[in-house]
Order: sequence, then structure tokens, then C-alpha cells
Amino acid sequence: MLLGAPGSGKGTQAARFASDYDVPVIATGDILRKNIKENTPLGQQAQSYIEKGDLVPDDLVIALVDSAFAEADAKGGWLLDGFPRTTAQAEALDVLLEKTGKKLDRVFLINVPKDVLISRITGRLLCPKCGRIYHEKSMPPSEAGVCDLDGAALTRRVDDNAETAESRIAVYNEQTKPLIDYYAAKGLLTEIDGTIGLDKIEDVIRETLS
Ligand code: AMP
Repeated sequence: MLLGAPGSGKGTQAARFASDYDVPVIATGDILRKNIKENTPLGQQAQSYIEKGDLVPDDLVIALVDSAFAEADAKGGWLLDGFPRTTAQAEALDVLLEKTGKKLDRVFLINVPKDVLISRITGRLLCPKCGRIYHEKSMPPSEAGVCDLDGAALTRRVDDNAETAESRIAVYNEQTKPLIDYYAAKGLLTEIDGTIGLDKIEDVIRETLS
């Protein structure tokens, strides 16, 4: 599981991980955005929360993860990105783990100072086709505004503006930070300095899991 504030680099590490390990990445934010794009009932319910930077209600997100766990590709395990984000979600996850007979190998907390989070979030660009994440300054595509992998026009997330970033970080501090103690108490937590560089962060994750 990857734990960390918005902009800490969870999605970027998840993408690296997914290319090597034969398990799906279950990223609740990505699944919710897909539902909004496809205008599903879940997307309609989630949209206003996401646009404001608030958390989508626990019951909706827990149901979403429950069905992601039931998919055939999740039988051999998964990587969780962006879930759980509240104590209620963490407790629900414990129940789901019991139900599916799985356990968490490790929870990686990626620590990044707030000023860095804000600059990462406000400069973030996303490929709507393959999901690859760029940054306009620190990780630009070869050709401005175009995905290196598939040539799609890069977009910005609706919630990646300075104002919403502030409230998302505040929500993280209030509602998600308690999970640090929750998983530390279970002996599952590995803390990583999220400013050491993408390759080094990936190395820590790999070495810890090997
Ligand atoms: P992310 O892509 O992880 O930054 O998530 C984007 C937005 O989706 C968040 O700001 C929330 O509004 C919503 N979201 C994603 N995961 C969760 C979750 N586990 N619980 C509640 N809301 C979530």
C-alpha cells in the first residue's frame, strides 16, 4: 500500500511497480475519475467531492475497492494507491482482507514537505489515454503538451489547482495522517523521504519487498 499526501508521488511509483509486478494497481482516485468521465452513477455521486478536494464518502469508496478485489486480476494480490484515506476505510480494509484471505505485506509512507507538494500538484500533467504523469518543469514530455508514449494531448486534473491543493493537503492532515499510527502499530510501516528522487524511492520499495 502507498500512503502519502496528494503530490507525494504515489501514482508515479505505482506506475513503475505495475510494469514489473504481475498485480493490478488499485488507485481509487483513478477509478473515480474514470467513472466521472463515463458519467456512471458512481461518477455522478463522486464528482462534486473531487472537484472541491473533499473525500468521497467512505461507503462509496469501500464498495469500489470491494469490487476491485473481486476482479480476476486481483486474485494474486494488488497494490493500493490512495486507499485507505480514513480510519473507517482502514477498518473496512481489514474486514476485506479477512474476507479475501489476504494480508498487507507493507505500507509505504512517502513523506514530502508541503511547499514541494503544492508545486508538484500545480505543475502536474496527465495523459488521459495511458495515465502517465508528467510535470511541466521537473518531468516535461519531449514535446510540450503531448504524451511521449501515445501522442495524446496532456490534460490537467480539475483538482490540481493551488486552492484545491491546499484543501486536499488539509484533508490529508486531518483524516489520513492518523493511518500512519494505525499501520505503525501493526508493524507494517516503512517511511520514505519522498524528495530523494524517483529511482531511489523505487529502490527502497523493491528492497523492502524482496
Ligand atoms: P487521488 O487521485 O488519489 O489524488 O484522488 C483524487 C480525489 O479522489 C481525492 O481528492 C478524493 O476526492 C477522491 N478519492 C480518491 N481516493 C479516495 C478515498 N480512498 N477516499 C475518499 N476519497 C477518495
